[in-house]
Amino acid sequence: MTPVKSPMPLTMASREEQIFPTLTPEQIARVAGHGRTRTVQHGEVLVETGQQHYPFFVVVSAELDVVRASPAGEEVVTTHAHGQFSGELNLLTGRRALANIRASQPGHVIEVGRDDLLALVQTDGELSEIFMRAFILRRVEFIARGFGDVVLLGSSYSSGTLRVKEFLSRNGHPYTYVDLDRDAGVQDLLDRFQVDTADVPVVICRGQLVLRNPTNEEIADCLGFNEPIDETRIRDVVIVGAGPAGLAAAVYAASEGLDALVLESNSPGGQAASSSRIENYLGFPTGISGQELAGRAFTQAEKFGAQLMIAKGAARLACSRRPYAVEIENGARVPARTVIIATGAEYRGLPVDNLSRFHGAGVYYGATPLESQLCRGEEVIVVGGGNSAGQAAVFLAQGALRVILLVRAAGLAETMSRYLVRRIEQNPSIELRTNCEIVAVEGDAHLERVRWRDGSSGRESTEAIRHLFVMTGAVPATKWLDGCVALDDHGFIKTGPDLSHDDLTAARWPLVRPPHLLETSLPGVFAVGDVRGGNLKRVAAAVGEGSIAVAFVHQVLHE
Ligand SMILES: Cc1cc2nc3c(=O)[nH]c(=O)nc-3n(C[C@H](O)[C@H](O)[C@H](O)COP(=O)(O)OP(=O)(O)OC[C@H]3O[C@@H](n4cnc5c(N)ncnc54)[C@H](O)[C@@H]3O)c2cc1C
Repeated sequence: MTPVKSPMPLTMASREEQIFPTLTPEQIARVAGHGRTRTVQHGEVLVETGQQHYPFFVVVSAELDVVRASPAGEEVVTTHAHGQFSGELNLLTGRRALANIRASQPGHVIEVGRDDLLALVQTDGELSEIFMRAFILRRVEFIARGFGDVVLLGSSYSSGTLRVKEFLSRNGHPYTYVDLDRDAGVQDLLDRFQVDTADVPVVICRGQLVLRNPTNEEIADCLGFNEPIDETRIRDVVIVGAGPAGLAAAVYAASEGLDALVLESNSPGGQAASSSRIENYLGFPTGISGQELAGRAFTQAEKFGAQLMIAKGAARLACSRRPYAVEIENGARVPARTVIIATGAEYRGLPVDNLSRFHGAGVYYGATPLESQLCRGEEVIVVGGGNSAGQAAVFLAQGALRVILLVRAAGLAETMSRYLVRRIEQNPSIELRTNCEIVAVEGDAHLERVRWRDGSSGRESTEAIRHLFVMTGAVPATKWLDGCVALDDHGFIKTGPDLSHDDLTAARWPLVRPPHLLETSLPGVFAVGDVRGGNLKRVAAAVGEGSIAVAFVHQVLHE
């Protein structure tokens, strides 16, 4: 079959140059120093879709087509000519290839293995910038055009659908979505294959595997998100949690030459990834979405050589002897000289029966474009009086018919930043209801009605509202530590000067020196970000602490 040519529709020439730059002869020579020059024959396939380990190519005299399978047959996404290079983000992160690379003209190419490419981007600032920008922009184009190796068949009535969408989006993985609520034909097909409601969402992974309501871990395994873990290798530092604090620790640890492994039970970004716009993080005057910030930090950590495991949570810390070991949910065990705990916090629910039944099907804990699409043109309730609730209300008001902001207190002034209070007051689509508490949620497969009580009058009201955003703060994720480190009265981890003499005696602190700043009651185990008692619950604080902890890790490793 003759492949269809479909060059990417790009609006500005400069953007095209950034996506498909042409290297200068000097730059090509520097790449050649890290690889080997080889010939390619016409039609030779250099990389196959789904291949997990594959090299990077710079074209010297050949032409390389990037080809993907499409319903119409094969589609040539682009052609790399002299001085241009192959690859996108998956090459850097060690994930499976999203397209074939095939020589359309014979000639010479420079082939560079992934490890040599990583070494090159760590040492050559100029090439690093060119490659990183091109890889990231190519991924953005892939996502925009729905290119990818995943088809998600889902429904807004299944909570798993939102979970899987979130998991793929937060991992920056392109996918095609088929809405079963709108596409009756697909539903018939599913019926014929005896895929029933409990099996939704269905994920067709790499055109081969059909996964029925898969866990995030199953999707990660199928898409090759994770490299195998070498359980015999003692890591300099194991970082648990890939929110802003853990990602910052990973970037600093790896860039300073430490052997760092990051374990993340869900997707990178933590709570920050559920923020539609972070406006108070240094260097982003117009704000940045939490997901974008997390995506960049993730790529940066991988660029420096940190190993990041997605959908692999820490289940236990073996803390009775050194080296410590972090046990992963699937049973693997990673030995570690030091540990940085960056597990942040989990969203607090509401004391209402049935709430969990509607998670992802009308009840949400974050307000990103994914959720806002689900409630476009409808009425929504946001519960909470903090900044995250305020941000969510302002953001959702852009697309929702009406946003009711419910708070238990008599006003917002005590708990919310002034700029947000002002935006809420000035927004005619937001209605503030003070002294109010949700008392019941009702519905069948999806949330249909919400009942709340007004504390000042004692009156209860029920409204037919299908979307409830719970933004009432979070509790620290420390259960897995099971007594290994001292906690404060609210369950946050105590560190450094906050550890009293009694805490250290109870923990049998064995050293002459006191704990370092951010060090827990266990020598060489640090806590950073929202999980730490006394932390400021800000992205900047989390990032700062993640980087500072690495300085103390060096000191402990030299003790
Ligand atoms: C909606 C919203 C909006 C916000 N907006 C702002 C803002 O505008 N500006 C600002 O400064 N701050 C904002 N914040 C607060 C900010 O996001 C947090 O302070 C910050 O994310 C804390 O970072 P962290 O890395 O400490 O923890 P988290 O972000 O909570 O990340 C912890 C990570 O650890 C993972 N984890 C948990 N347990 C385990 C385990 N056992 N094993 C492996 N991994 C585990 C979690 O999945 C998570 O990814 C907002 C928060 C929310 C919820």
